[in-house]
Amino acid sequence: MELGAIIGISAGVFLLGLAIYFILWQKKMFNPLPTGQISVEDPQLQFYAIKEQSVNFFIITDGLEYIMIDCGYGKSSLISDMEKLKLDPKKISHIFITHADLDHIGGRSFFPNAIFHLHEKDMQIIDGTTHRFKNVYKYPKVKHPFELFSDGENFEVGQMHVKTIATPGHTPGSSSFLLNNCYLFTGDTLTLHNGEVHTFYKFITMDMGSQKASIRKLAHLENILFLFSAHTQFTADFGRAMEKWKKSSM
Ligand SMILES: [Zn+2]
Repeated sequence: MELGAIIGISAGVFLLGLAIYFILWQKKMFNPLPTGQISVEDPQLQFYAIKEQSVNFFIITDGLEYIMIDCGYGKSSLISDMEKLKLDPKKISHIFITHADLDHIGGRSFFPNAIFHLHEKDMQIIDGTTHRFKNVYKYPKVKHPFELFSDGENFEVGQMHVKTIATPGHTPGSSSFLLNNCYLFTGDTLTLHNGEVHTFYKFITMDMGSQKASIRKLAHLENILFLFSAHTQFTADFGRAMEKWKKSSM
């Protein structure tokens, strides 16, 4: 066999192995909620999760107003998933984006009446000033504008009060959202495994030191009833989830 053919076949086998490894890794590391209503006992609000491959985005409503946390990859199946739950994409008025990765901002075109809120420090990723994934990947030009926020801003939408908490690390503008002072949405700031909080995965996190500081900051919040992650479900036991982070300087 010619040397060129041997090199070609070897490269093919290597790439196939890499792809299989990545698929298995994703399956093990990402464990989103199934699409459906989430059983949260709140007198005013209903919560829904939509699953798109490895990620969740969340819809919360007080019966009149509808908001979302992130908007997924943007697969067309998200429309039929929402229809099954009797949710209308056109009714979503505000979407709070945890960070500018494609699995969290890709669905923008499906929500024509929504205002998209993004932390100002993640615009550098969208406009290409700062490259994500070590220059390997360039973001497509964004058609839908973002309203930029900074740390500690407050938004009122119907019965829903959303406070922004800057939690940099995964990306410079990664943010968490505190809804009605007791529901915490953390995006890719952390993962949950066996009810405990861990950092997000290292090779897709831009600054691990900042991320750890961000998790410690969240650990000191009080009266949290539910902690939601974007890829690893949620917990209703915030105290246990954050126990180690509250005490230590990990
Ligand atoms: Zn993600």
